[in-house]
Amino acid sequence: MRRYSLFALAREALRGHTGWGRAWGAAAPRAAYDAIIVGAGGHGLATAYYLGRNHGLRNVAVLEKGWLGGGNTGRNTTIVRSNYLQDASAAIYEKARSLFETLSQDLNFNVMFSPRGLLMLAQTEHEVRGYRRTAHANALQGVETAFIPPARVRELVPAIRLEGPRYPVLGALWQARGGTARHDAVAWGYARACAAMGMDIVENCAVTGIRVANGAVTGVETTKGPIATRRLGLVVAGHSSVLAGMAGFRLPIESLCLQALVSEPVKPCLDVVVMANTVHGYISQSDKGEMVIGGGTDGFNNYSQRGSWHHVEETLRALTETFPMLSRLKMLRQWGGIVDMTGDRSPILSTTPVDGIFVNCGWGTGGFKAIPGSGWAMAELMATGAPGPLAAAFTLNRFREGRFIDESVAAGVAH
Ligand SMILES: Cc1cc2nc3c(=O)[nH]c(=O)nc-3n(C[C@H](O)[C@H](O)[C@H](O)COP(=O)(O)OP(=O)(O)OC[C@H]3O[C@@H](n4cnc5c(N)ncnc54)[C@H](O)[C@@H]3O)c2cc1C
Repeated sequence: MRRYSLFALAREALRGHTGWGRAWGAAAPRAAYDAIIVGAGGHGLATAYYLGRNHGLRNVAVLEKGWLGGGNTGRNTTIVRSNYLQDASAAIYEKARSLFETLSQDLNFNVMFSPRGLLMLAQTEHEVRGYRRTAHANALQGVETAFIPPARVRELVPAIRLEGPRYPVLGALWQARGGTARHDAVAWGYARACAAMGMDIVENCAVTGIRVANGAVTGVETTKGPIATRRLGLVVAGHSSVLAGMAGFRLPIESLCLQALVSEPVKPCLDVVVMANTVHGYISQSDKGEMVIGGGTDGFNNYSQRGSWHHVEETLRALTETFPMLSRLKMLRQWGGIVDMTGDRSPILSTTPVDGIFVNCGWGTGGFKAIPGSGWAMAELMATGAPGPLAAAFTLNRFREGRFIDESVAAGVAH
């Protein structure tokens, strides 16, 4: 595969851009693979990439029922941060954040990582205490964050109204190297790098059944025919319970629709990410100028991928308290994605009751930021058959043993 470089760009500019190859081919599935990953979202593709890069396993297929990156990966609001409370969470999210720093160079694909800085507003005394505690925990974990006073919030976000009609801004948890990345580019970059290693990415190929013999996986049934494998990774976010059901076990996952929206584009006016969890809403400005706005999950389990009017109203009512300028903007689009929620709001990276089947799910409302770290840890799990240090705390056993990794404050409403 041709490397992207300044030289390649200049050459193609001179010949009318006729020499660019496909970033990844339209593969037809082969009869058998050493490993199959179901789901070509960011987590599935990153798993395949690190299986090849870190563990030399390249006879791998990624099967996707729709189009690559068309699930939550292409629907999220692109926030990247690692300011979590519990040690196990901080470790995997910080691993991911640090991989984001050089991901464009690693993949030779511009993922537009923008560590512009991220604020989580504290608008009640309870939040002040909570975020101070997180800042102390982060200091011990080696994650750079700080609790900053309102005057510093004002410097970073001139457009904000600190007084607020209901909740004044009392400070914020600030992560200077948090920010955003381009979600599609993350999926495309990993896909291209996987294809360059000779892996097959098979789109429009739904897994419809899982073959198990003597307690071990032997292959999958798909809309493009059966495929044999002894190593199967289920990385399908909101459809995790459906796939687990095909293999005959259950997962502690609930699927919900999470919504977001964007405004019309305006000139640059916000160069950090701001999250306001008390009133519930968060906002950043895209490179095109749109205000990217995140809302909440539906209050009932469902597999819908659509937005709804009441979410637009609720989210904007909340955000205009701190950003009155939003009241003048037209909203252009809204959408939803099916997120996979666990009871403790932490992910699952685990072996399963079926030998050779591994699951990676439960990232819920906040898994985009985790993609590189999750892929790294899942690849280690699939290659060695046991979780490494990053994944060790996130196995399914924790639900049986009561070892919850409670991130309901960090991840329950924020993303
Ligand atoms: C509106 C919204 C905003 C969000 N904002 C943020 C944010 O700002 N920051 C953040 O960190 N996270 C955010 N998230 C969460 C984040 O998007 C997800 O956690 C993450 O993208 C999950 O990636 P994934 O690869 O696991 O799943 P997905 O990208 O959903 O990929 C799973 C894939 O599996 C495929 N699949 C399902 N069933 C089958 C089958 N039977 N056969 C074959 N393929 C199948 C699906 O088609 C899908 O493409 C947000 C999510 C949403 C919906």
